[in-house]
Amino acid sequence: MTLSFDPETLELPFHHFIAGERVAAEGALEMRRPSDGMAYGGCPVADASLVDRAVQAGREALKSSGWADARPRERLNAMYRWADLIDQEAPALARLEAFCSTRPVVQLAEGDIAVTAEQIRFFAEFADKEGSVVAPTSTDSFGMTLSEPYGVIGAITPWNFPISMAGWKLGPALAAGNAVVLKPSEITPFSTLLMAELAVKAGIPAGLINIVLGDGPTTGNAITGHPDIAKVSFTGSTAAGSAIMANIARTGIKPMTLELGGKSPQVVFADADLELAAAAISRGILANAGQVCVAGSRLIVAEEVADALSEAIARHMARIEPGLTWDENTQYSPIISERQLGRIDEIVKRAASLGAECVVGGRRMDVEGYFYEPTLLRGVDGNSPAVTEEIFGPVLTLQTFREEEEALALADHPTYGLAAGLFTRDLSRAMRVMKRLQAGTIWVNRYGRSRDHILPTGGYKSSGIGKDLGREAYLANRKYKSVLIDIEGNNS
Ligand code: NAD
Repeated sequence: MTLSFDPETLELPFHHFIAGERVAAEGALEMRRPSDGMAYGGCPVADASLVDRAVQAGREALKSSGWADARPRERLNAMYRWADLIDQEAPALARLEAFCSTRPVVQLAEGDIAVTAEQIRFFAEFADKEGSVVAPTSTDSFGMTLSEPYGVIGAITPWNFPISMAGWKLGPALAAGNAVVLKPSEITPFSTLLMAELAVKAGIPAGLINIVLGDGPTTGNAITGHPDIAKVSFTGSTAAGSAIMANIARTGIKPMTLELGGKSPQVVFADADLELAAAAISRGILANAGQVCVAGSRLIVAEEVADALSEAIARHMARIEPGLTWDENTQYSPIISERQLGRIDEIVKRAASLGAECVVGGRRMDVEGYFYEPTLLRGVDGNSPAVTEEIFGPVLTLQTFREEEEALALADHPTYGLAAGLFTRDLSRAMRVMKRLQAGTIWVNRYGRSRDHILPTGGYKSSGIGKDLGREAYLANRKYKSVLIDIEGNNS
């Protein structure tokens, strides 16, 4: 079956989805396709009263459906049916996503969507396996920690992996017995709407998943500040994460999970397998054209192998071909917007003006759409924004070291700590360095996630609070109540 499609024939859903119904809306925010820069419509913006309607729909659905109190296996079965429908409808989901986002249609169908269905099943399985705990109290009393769902969770997702991010939020929240009001990015909302409709089709009660479209200042703020939103789960930039923390502090304390930005190092020691490292490092910075929270954007390499590794990476980068996201032969992504393309170019030019050598790339590609050349910068000043700031583009800086301590010092970013890569054949070194790297995920002799969903993901420092994926993500969608029952009646 061919996955390529004609974008002009696609019908796009410009509406909200509340209590299982499509809610018509006026387009407000201009939308453009990154593949060719074409303007095609406007994203609606839900105001505070519509957000309130979605939150009340969530509360009502929890009450009327008994989702949280029915046999846990019923939740699991409904979520399995939902995952099966996501697999079945993968081509439709892939078309909606490839149309507006930077994700190539083939990577969506074979990657993001298949993995999301798998992750929803993974989370569903916790529903009837994780329970409350009897505590080891003194024998004259009986103590337990009861685990309960929160109620309605407010989720907000970014544009870079919309289906995956919706799955990371909805999967554990639903399995744990909650309802959700989710605001996808105003740039890429369509696939999330279809995922919610498929959930209802699968038998997940209408109103448990409500999707409101809109921007951060209006819709996002209304969600995070709503008094009946019991918990906030956010993925996006560190700047938006701090605005959300401030809004929550202002409007009423509630728990939050924040998955934020990064500036992740890839550290290569002289004994590493350089061909393996070059391939992994190139994937680590070129996947989604570097628009990945865990993009390995800072290469830190032992001085004696820097030339060989730089040449090997340059060879990988030179092979990259741009293409339309709706063409099934495309592997390399466009940049999300003209503005972001300009920002990447500005940072690269600034690094060059501070003395960096552009080994490859360094320019906007001479094609239609928002494409930037894979770029490797050597001899880059450590204080240049290319080294200090999250670029969110296909730009890799190369810095060298002589000693292990120097490598660790370069790897340690003052504010970010999302992920890190480490390449060496020396097991003792790998164990030693892995323990000292300050990041929420460390990859050794590889770069990027596996399909082992049990490994949680989340940042150290300003890269975030809490975890997505893993058992931790399920547990973070429940709250815990301690109960102490006095058996002997002596209150001791
Ligand atoms: P963004 O912060 O601009 O927007 C993310 C979402 O937050 C959008 O839905 C947006 O409308 C909303 N938003 C913005 N301001 C808000 C506010 N004040 N209140 C409530 N909602 C608000 O990020 P983006 O450009 O969509 O995505 C890129 C960023 O996301 C990068 O920094 C990247 O590292 C990060 N990211 C992190 C992870 C992770 O797991 N740590 C995963 C993917 C992306």
